Amino acid sequence: MECPFCQSTILKKESFYEDDFFRAIYNLRPVVKGHCLVIPKRHIEELYQLKENERKDFIYFSNKAIFIAEKYSETNEFDFLLQKGENAGQSIKHLHFHIIPRKKNDILKVAKKEFLKTFQKEENSDKVVSEQEMTKIVSELKSIAEKHRLQINEL
Ligand SMILES: [Zn+2]
Repeated sequence: MECPFCQSTILKKESFYEDDFFRAIYNLRPVVKGHCLVIPKRHIEELYQLKENERKDFIYFSNKAIFIAEKYSETNEFDFLLQKGENAGQSIKHLHFHIIPRKKNDILKVAKKEFLKTFQKEENSDKVVSEQEMTKIVSELKSIAEKHRLQINEL
């Protein structure tokens, strides 16, 4: 099976921000509103496979993607998470980082030890964003990126 994060049809629908090395996409199975992913454009599976210029760009790009996800979710709190390996809950082999906007009484507001279990369960659920919803959400995220372009460039 081809990697979903390398399929242009999927990327076209789910991407809302990119630079030379990375792309921000909306999660097809969001655990909370604004649950986005940062993925390298190249198909790599491991963190160590990032090249030096990609490593340098990573935090820089992530800040921008987080800014947009936060504006969309109307919060400035978030988890930023890498799941490595099946036992950690990784389902897609293409390296990806979760941006999970957090709010006071969100569904992940559980004991720390329950957090990843709940997260994993929600991620694997059948609740998939419909094509129509995805188009609407991605277009909102893009318009946030455009509206705050100058501020984002400074991050
Ligand atoms: Zn891939």
